[in-house]
Amino acid sequence: MKADLKELYQEIILDHNKNPRNFKKLDRHTHKAEGYNPLCGDHYTLYLKVENDKILDVSFEGAGCAISKSSASLMTSCIKGKSRAEAEEIFRNFHLMLTGNLEPGDLPGSMCKMEALQGVKAFPTRIKCATLVWHTMKSALDGKQEAGTEQGAAHPAHNR
Ligand code: ZN
Repeated sequence: MKADLKELYQEIILDHNKNPRNFKKLDRHTHKAEGYNPLCGDHYTLYLKVENDKILDVSFEGAGCAISKSSASLMTSCIKGKSRAEAEEIFRNFHLMLTGNLEPGDLPGSMCKMEALQGVKAFPTRIKCATLVWHTMKSALDGKQEAGTEQGAAHPAHNR
């Protein structure tokens, strides 16, 4: 894939940035965490309602670049109704796609629609934008209130 901005900001990203899904506060949440990416200024709060390891509802609030916001919008659409294990599997695959240079078709299991952000891997500094809300989801599910991006995070939460 060519490292070309037009490809990076493909239509699905522009759509989710402009009309983010699940962009609200979830009043009756069971888990909540804040994610902050100081490199870009992305800052979101993620809310989850989890029962018996199933993600019944999820939403987010905050502000950031098109990559982080569309990733949050796609993620919340993807993991709603899934088990915690399924959501973490999608995160693993998403992470592998961006950092392990694997094509979506080579990944084990589900990607949901996260391959829309494939172009981000050509822009290493933007990978943190794309993975921020995913790290935030893991932190929230682990009972932590805050998530940083990989460099700043004291806890390699995604590395179990
Ligand atoms: Zn960003």
